Amino acid sequence: MRLRNIPGSRQIIAENPWCIQEPEKQKGCWHTIFGNQNPIHIEVGMGKGQFLMTLAGKNPNINYVGIEKYSSVLLRALQKMEENPLDNLKFIRMDAETIADVFAKDEVDRIYLNFSDPWPKDRHAKRRLTSKEFFARYDKILTGDGQVEFKTDNTMLFDFSLEQVELAGWRLNACTRDLHRNEEMNQGNIMTEYEERFSGQGNAICKLIAVR
Ligand code: SAM
Repeated sequence: MRLRNIPGSRQIIAENPWCIQEPEKQKGCWHTIFGNQNPIHIEVGMGKGQFLMTLAGKNPNINYVGIEKYSSVLLRALQKMEENPLDNLKFIRMDAETIADVFAKDEVDRIYLNFSDPWPKDRHAKRRLTSKEFFARYDKILTGDGQVEFKTDNTMLFDFSLEQVELAGWRLNACTRDLHRNEEMNQGNIMTEYEERFSGQGNAICKLIAVR
């Protein structure tokens, strides 16, 4: 998701109380930031934050961190937070490539990847958030029984991701190529903004849950 650059968005983010500045300095301190020992779930590439805000509202005993690369996109999430502030949700503007510099070992209990950019060119495969290179980063921050949950309507990206789970030495806990028709996996499903858009166009939604 790329929105028109909004002048001043970096400055607004730098002064916003829900955005964590210099996140590398918080490595190992995330429970202190939230002021409790509740589990921490993150979404990498959260877009405008609809999914995380819904989850955070429903689950006050879980802490959430949304990671988004673009200021203009993150700004939309901040505007929504002003209307409906949530104590258990924080944001970081960063490229997730350095995620292992921001969270310590065992600090994160779950990682959500929703409708991640497909990076269709082979030479960009390492940038896909479900590449084995990214799984190696997730391995460094997740608890032993932590999991990665990935949803997409892009079957090429999904096939690639299934291969990468295996190459990374992870295994599948659950998998479907039609989430909305899979009663068990769809239970409690929270739709993301892209999920609403693509399933509204008739696309089936694929989902996998990967564990080590
Ligand atoms: N997850 C949302 C949803 O399902 O509605 C947004 C999906 S959008 C297609 C993907 C988002 O991931 C974009 O906002 C993009 O800027 C962000 N993104 C892509 N690569 C990223 C990275 N390496 N680090 C942080 N954010 C990233």
